[in-house]
Amino acid sequence: MTAPASTSQDFASLSLTPAALANLKLLGYEQMTPIQAASLPIALLGKDLIAQAKTGSGKTAAFALALLSNLNARRFAVQSLVLCPTRELADQVTQEIRRLARAEENIKVVTLCGGVAMRGQIASLEHGAHIVVGTPGRIMDHLQRGYLKLDALNTLVLDEADRMLDMGFFDDIAVVARQCPTERQTLLFSATYPEGIAKISQQFMRQPQTVTVAAQHDSNKIRQRWYQVRESERLHAVSAVLNHYRPASTLAFCNTKVQCRELVQVLKAQGFSALALYGELEQRERDQVLVQFSNRSCSVLVATDVAARGLDISQLEMVINVDVTPDAEVHIHRIGRTGRADEEGWAISLASMNEMGSVGKIEQLQKIESEWHKLEELTPASKEPLVPPMVTLQIVGGRKEKIRAGDVLGALTGDAGFTREQVGKINVNEFSTYVALDRSIANEALQKLTVGKVKGKSVRVRLLDDESLA
Ligand code: ADP
Ligand code: MG
Repeated sequence: MTAPASTSQDFASLSLTPAALANLKLLGYEQMTPIQAASLPIALLGKDLIAQAKTGSGKTAAFALALLSNLNARRFAVQSLVLCPTRELADQVTQEIRRLARAEENIKVVTLCGGVAMRGQIASLEHGAHIVVGTPGRIMDHLQRGYLKLDALNTLVLDEADRMLDMGFFDDIAVVARQCPTERQTLLFSATYPEGIAKISQQFMRQPQTVTVAAQHDSNKIRQRWYQVRESERLHAVSAVLNHYRPASTLAFCNTKVQCRELVQVLKAQGFSALALYGELEQRERDQVLVQFSNRSCSVLVATDVAARGLDISQLEMVINVDVTPDAEVHIHRIGRTGRADEEGWAISLASMNEMGSVGKIEQLQKIESEWHKLEELTPASKEPLVPPMVTLQIVGGRKEKIRAGDVLGALTGDAGFTREQVGKINVNEFSTYVALDRSIANEALQKLTVGKVKGKSVRVRLLDDESLA
């Protein structure tokens, strides 16, 4: 039951307010992405919907615009609930909803995730929330203790449903869904379509329409190459690839956590700046890893599929399939992380003889023949080590201390005398602020901020991963 894709890509074809349309222009959203064009007309009619499209295809706005249009800002009650698998995805969704909600009056979005004290969350709920975004476990906590009430709810969103199922959240989702009014809209978004999704839809959705945007990429933007390796050569082949192509940002996929850890060790030993992302990291470590990678102060992020799913990371020059995935769909998702928008990207895959069966399945699905190259062709393009352009400086203190990005930029470009161009991305988290600095000024900036002030106060600062500093 696949709904026909809407013919118009134009946001103006939807029943959105002029203010919402103007805000989309401001955000640079010129046209709907294919999944938005396929799902928004259905979602805006209030129908239940299952939408499947690859990571990075704009699924958040596809449900955010629908739930915002259903919302009455004058009614002080939770009207939408978005369930996400992890805190960082919940944060990303909250930010996107806030951006999209700017057109409307005072819409309050509250994030409820584990790993953070309940107290502040309870206070935020008491101040009134229209939209709640969070992870199933913490949402259940708030429901059970009576802090969160869902009787006015009109939209329930299950975002990254496949990943929530992977993480064993089915029962929690069921508990939460049963507490929602039966008269409601349920929207389910997913990158893949595992079995559990049919079960969710049977139990908690009402005659949902399904829209799917096929996971095929513009093959002109992703240049794929395959290298045959022996098992013993695999990890060292990754550094050969990096030295040859010299990408500034690479996401390297391994099939297991153990492989991730080993690869990071090998890369670090060879002077690369590499970090691992896998399930069991503490939240604070995950945050730091993601900040450093996304602000270009780490060259290689080594991840498992589960850890990387759903993350919105742009500007990737390269994806490396360190191991071939046995699931051809997963391969398509992996390589789709590079070559987005108008940038070109490399997708490099390493395959051993044992993996040729999987390679065959991937070829069938992609309907293109693999382009094979020899490891011997990989020659270092430079004698200089590959270093990331930026370094991350951590300031102890964040939103809790009312630090804003502008304060930090002000301190660096004011008293400290640096230029705007020498400062990169600034991430203000709850308790910490992370600033990307041009590598050439990192040490000087550290010294100046150590003795200087941010927002009139002395702050504690340190460079993350200073071992990689020259
Ligand atoms: P998904 O949930 O499918 O992985 P996201 O919702 O995270 O994808 O969107 C990926 C990126 O695309 C985000 O940075 C978002 O701001 C951007 N984006 C979404 N819709 C549009 C659009 N219509 N035009 C331009 N950029 C968009
Ligand atoms: Mg998403």
